[in-house]
Formats: sequence, C-alpha cells, structure tokens
Amino acid sequence: MKHKGRLRKVAKWTGANACSLLLAAWVVSIWYSILLPVNRQVMIFSAGGCVRVVISNPDSAAEFSPRIKVVSSGFRELGFAWPRAILNDVASYFLIPFWLLLLVTTVPTIILFYRDRRRFLPGCCESCGYDLRSNTGSRCPECGCAAVVKKEI
Ligand SMILES: [Zn+2]
Repeated sequence: MKHKGRLRKVAKWTGANACSLLLAAWVVSIWYSILLPVNRQVMIFSAGGCVRVVISNPDSAAEFSPRIKVVSSGFRELGFAWPRAILNDVASYFLIPFWLLLLVTTVPTIILFYRDRRRFLPGCCESCGYDLRSNTGSRCPECGCAAVVKKEI
C-alpha cells in the first residue's frame, strides 16, 4: 500500500512536469522552429504547434546535420491539426500536434491528482486508509506512517 502510494505520487508529479514542459514547448513552437537532430537519420522538428519526427530512409542518401537549430519564424499557427504520417522513398514523416500530446499527458495526470486527493473514513490511516480504531501504537501497521487518525465527528 505504501509502495503504491509513493508510485502514484511520483507518477502524478512526473505527469505534472511533463504537462508544463509540453505546454511550454507548444507555446515556443508557435513562434520558433526548433530542429533537434537525434542522429543522422532521425530528426525531431518542432514548429507551428506540432512536433514532426522525420526518419530518413537508410537506403536514401539523405542525412541530417547534427546541429541543433533554432529559428525565429514569427507567429505561425497554433497547431490544431490531426496527427498524420507520410511515408515515401526518402523519409518517413510523422506529424504529432502538441494538443494531442498534452491531452494524453494531462488526462491521466488529472486522474492521478484526483485519486490522490481521496480521503478515507474517520478512524482510518490518512495515508493508506487502514482501519486504526483498534490500533494502540503510534504508527500505522499497514503502511508505517505516523498514525494520524482523523477524529470521528
Ligand atoms: Zn497507513
């Protein structure tokens, strides 16, 4: 129970950080184009509210420059597009809009925060919900937290 609670805390804060980073990246992408080469075959390109992943075909001679490039492009678009993939002889091109990335990150994060907010019944451990009404020690026998018992009203 204790392990599960800790895992949920880590997951919810990781999710919250991912949401903020994605939101920041989305805002930046509206005005700046960022080219992030992963290697000579794979490049991540963020611009116009979307992330584009370009993978050059190993049979083609096309190679990406290994340098990161940031170009101010002025106001582009917000990126309310649908995800799509274009595959051809030279490269595979995947377009993932930031709104979609943000949605798949935000929804589980909100659920995690909501679940972590759950309160247990009076007389139960505030951390794990174990019934402490017959507990005599100062620690919860289930999770080991200090036995802070909610007073019964
Ligand atoms: Zn407990």
